[in-house]
Amino acid sequence: MDRALLQRRLTERGEPAYRAEQVWDWAARGVTGYSQMTNLPGELRTELEGEVPFSTLELEREAKASDGTVKALFRTQGGHAVEAVLMRFRDGRRSVCLSSQSGCPLTCRFCATGQMRFGRNLTVSEILDQALHFRRTEPIDHAVFMGMGEPMLNLEPVLEAARALPDVGITWRRTTISTVGWLPGLRRFVDEVEEPIRLAFSLHAPTDELRGELMPVNERFPLADVLAECSRYFELRRRKVFVEYVMLRGVNDRVEQARALAKLLDPRVFKVNLIPYNPTGMYEGSSPKAIAAFKNVLGSARLPVTVRLTRGRDIAAACGQLAAG
Ligand code: SF4
Repeated sequence: MDRALLQRRLTERGEPAYRAEQVWDWAARGVTGYSQMTNLPGELRTELEGEVPFSTLELEREAKASDGTVKALFRTQGGHAVEAVLMRFRDGRRSVCLSSQSGCPLTCRFCATGQMRFGRNLTVSEILDQALHFRRTEPIDHAVFMGMGEPMLNLEPVLEAARALPDVGITWRRTTISTVGWLPGLRRFVDEVEEPIRLAFSLHAPTDELRGELMPVNERFPLADVLAECSRYFELRRRKVFVEYVMLRGVNDRVEQARALAKLLDPRVFKVNLIPYNPTGMYEGSSPKAIAAFKNVLGSARLPVTVRLTRGRDIAAACGQLAAG
């Protein structure tokens, strides 16, 4: 819901100041329309229905994977594609993966989003409407900004949306903002964000050379600078930084590379998440054996390490697969 438009309409009608909050409270609790907002005057509900669309996004289609993962493709009012994913875990967690941009300008080579044309930054309402879409079907309790786009390139709206997520049922401690190392945004994030929002760094390679090949952003912001900023986050907030590392067969999955990674990362600061790669046509994913060997090396160096459970692979909803297809 476009909260700015809502506020304007309410002010024009001379409604009391608390009305906007009332409407938001209902929306955040997952109602499906103004008609369910029973503490609003009937006439106002009817007017809002005609004047303020209930969502800034229109659902184009939704796909459900065999593991319960749901991928939704939306369009903004101007027709830009936006994807979001709901992951359902066996232990009951319900996590939403949110997009911060339509497309992405950073063109990481292994990422399907990076291969599509960049549209634009999303607004706060467009980010929140992705979460609200899923909230309307069930309670949700985790959020990751790992969908389309680089959140640090659209930091203001991302933070405003993240700050509102507790109303939807997702605490800040269960909210993670991810970056490929866009340093200007990351610096601001470290300096300004006081809420206990978590940070994830998509690293994917242990050297500048390989990282530069996979991720053009590394040419602008070298590894050492980004890692230093992550350490600063740890020093200030005392929360570990998640390192995302997508496992590409024969590219970044060798045992020597695991050793180099273990040398690079301070085990007090970082926690590594190895991500089995979901082929998008450009690279092959590492074998389970290679992933296990890589994990062992990191584990022996006392670096906390997990292998991510792949969700939604059969509907192209997994990491690096969001391309509005
Ligand atoms: S991995 Fe992230 S930053 Fe890189 S192209 Fe994909 S969406 Fe953009």
